[in-house]
Amino acid sequence: QAKANGGGHCCFFSPRMNQQASDRLILAAALRDAIAHDRLRLFYQPQVHACSGTLYGVEALSRWIDPSLGFVSPARFIAVAEETGQIEAIGKWSLRAACRQMAQWIRDGVEVPVVSVNLSPLHFRDETLPRFVSELLAETGIPPHSLTIEITESTMIDNYDRTIRVAQRLREMGVGMSMDDFGTGFSSLSNLAGLPVNEVKIDRSFMTGLESIEKVRAVVMAVVRIGQSLGMTVVAEGVEHEEQRRLLAEMECDVLQGYMFSKPLPAEELAAWFAAYQPSGLSG
Ligand code: C2E
Ligand code: MG
Ligand code: MG
Ligand code: MG
Repeated sequence: QAKANGGGHCCFFSPRMNQQASDRLILAAALRDAIAHDRLRLFYQPQVHACSGTLYGVEALSRWIDPSLGFVSPARFIAVAEETGQIEAIGKWSLRAACRQMAQWIRDGVEVPVVSVNLSPLHFRDETLPRFVSELLAETGIPPHSLTIEITESTMIDNYDRTIRVAQRLREMGVGMSMDDFGTGFSSLSNLAGLPVNEVKIDRSFMTGLESIEKVRAVVMAVVRIGQSLGMTVVAEGVEHEEQRRLLAEMECDVLQGYMFSKPLPAEELAAWFAAYQPSGLSG
């Protein structure tokens, strides 16, 4: 096998690849344990209307602190979970946890309009997803429009027709659909036009050049216009500075999310953040 790859000097597994493979195995085993012992948590990051500063919703983001591995970033463990099939359990767990939290906020009078949950494209292969979601809505009693599902395109959509069908059914139920990380990776213009999404999130990587690079500004402006003309809500992620906020508001980007408002927080801290939050609109 190694020879088929070219010269005889080439090894199939380099020591580094071996290390990475065993890291993945360790991670996968620890993750199985974490899922079984319910050690994953959801943190919530606020999203605010660009013009008024009022709360638009929150995004639920998975957090995992392993007793021996410590903090493992979702970027790492989600990728492993997609390879091992554990993503299936994580997706259902995060949907359930987010809907229960929303029900709790409603009971507590915390006015969070919508919670967004990240799902891998792999979930949309499963035609029972809409039924799972409708049972969850019935069980928790939350209105369908208080849930949005972000298609987080970590992998390519492999069954396009089925993905559209599943997403369409969720939309018909009244659940929001959002295209995450738009403008990078697998998140393409053809997907934006072809998938039944009512929201698009401009990838955080565009925020760094927003203030300083004219071309980046032009691209972001174009994405906002595309989203608008498709009738979608446009969300910018990774907003850290006042100048970015001003530029995005000027471009008529609808919603902003980023450290400028808050980092992702545990549910109780989110409620405290919201209680203390003073929405401020555009000052000029
Ligand atoms: P994402 O869905 O695009 O989430 C936004 C990421 O940007 C989050 O990283 C968030 O903490 C970070 N972020 C938000 N505002 C700022 C900012 O102002 N500056 C900077 N530097 N970063 C900011 P996080 O929580 O590490 O998640 C990384 C990715 O992992 C997510 O990107 C999402 O693709 C994936 N992910 C997280 N939780 C889940 C999950 O439960 N299921 C799935 N399938 N994927 C998840
Ligand atoms: Mg997301
Ligand atoms: Mg995103
Ligand atoms: Mg992103």
